[in-house]
Amino acid sequence: MKNAQCKKCLNKFNEKDIYTIQQFQYRKEPSYEWTREFFSDLEIGEWDSFCEKCMTEYSKMSKNSWKNHAQN
Ligand SMILES: [Zn+2]
Repeated sequence: MKNAQCKKCLNKFNEKDIYTIQQFQYRKEPSYEWTREFFSDLEIGEWDSFCEKCMTEYSKMSKNSWKNHAQN
């Protein structure tokens, strides 16, 4: 049953396929603390649900932002 909804693209999908920013805890860098702050500026919390596609986009976006930030 497709009873989960992506906060970004609003597509419906299976609950078992939910992605949240909590998966970034396992990312080597940036730190999860940095990641949480980055997403809180976008009004995204640890319990917001996303589909795999949008989570991949957010993953790239946050990593790029972190790289740019680190260079300045
Ligand atoms: Zn989505």
